Amino acid sequence: MDDRLFRDAMGKFTTGVTVLTTEFENEPAGMTANAFMSVSLTPKLVVVSIGHKARFLAKVQDSRKFAVNILAADQENYSRMFAGQATDDSKVAFGELAGNPVIPKALAQVSCKLVAEHVEGDHTLLIGEVLDIKLEEGNPLIFFSGQYHALAEKAPVV
Ligand code: FAD
Ligand code: NAD
Repeated sequence: MDDRLFRDAMGKFTTGVTVLTTEFENEPAGMTANAFMSVSLTPKLVVVSIGHKARFLAKVQDSRKFAVNILAADQENYSRMFAGQATDDSKVAFGELAGNPVIPKALAQVSCKLVAEHVEGDHTLLIGEVLDIKLEEGNPLIFFSGQYHALAEKAPVV
């Protein structure tokens, strides 16, 4: 099957956008990811899927911890920056939560320790046990068909 057909189909599944963060050699590091899912309530587990070409994977495997930062509607610049598509190279003023660097003003900062890894094809699934969470009010950044979008109010049914 053609890769483009697969990506086009997967792109029909509308997601939010996260920046995954970790600490590597005493420096913060980040990577944009939309392959994120809640896994378990007891214990509280999440999963992210990282391609084997991403340098971020080895950094998390070294640090054994990562945070999931769910981006707000006005944080598209962070999505581009941490996907290597930045036009602006300004420094990020990272915060800190349970030992992980976090993106300030993200809608949710979810700080995790790495508890399991599963290699599947050309990606590795990283399972994180949630250590702490910080929430902000606001609307999410949305990714659909390879483009960024914002929430629209649903028109009332008359
Ligand atoms: P690097 O080049 O090491 O880092 C990526 C970028 O982040 C670089 O430009 C770097 O300068 C910047 N950066 C890193 N740390 C810092 C810092 N401390 N301060 C400032 N800038 C920093 N790939 C997946 O594997 N899984 C996914 O779920 C996924 N979802 C994606 C969703 C979207 C919407 C997009 C746009 C991309 C997605 N990608 C995903 C692709 C992934 O984001 C890129 O391939 C990414 O560049 C890989 O990161 P890296 O660690 O190899 O790159
Ligand atoms: P796109 O059209 O490539 O992505 C649409 C959807 O396809 C994504 O939401 C994802 O579900 C899937 N997808 C894309 N690349 C994939 C990959 N290598 N492995 C598994 N699933 C993949 O969107 P785009 O705007 O062209 O993406 C920008 C870049 O980010 C591309 O290089 C893309 O490969 C990468 N990306 C990777 C993943 C991932 O690895 N899970 C997810 C999204 C985007």
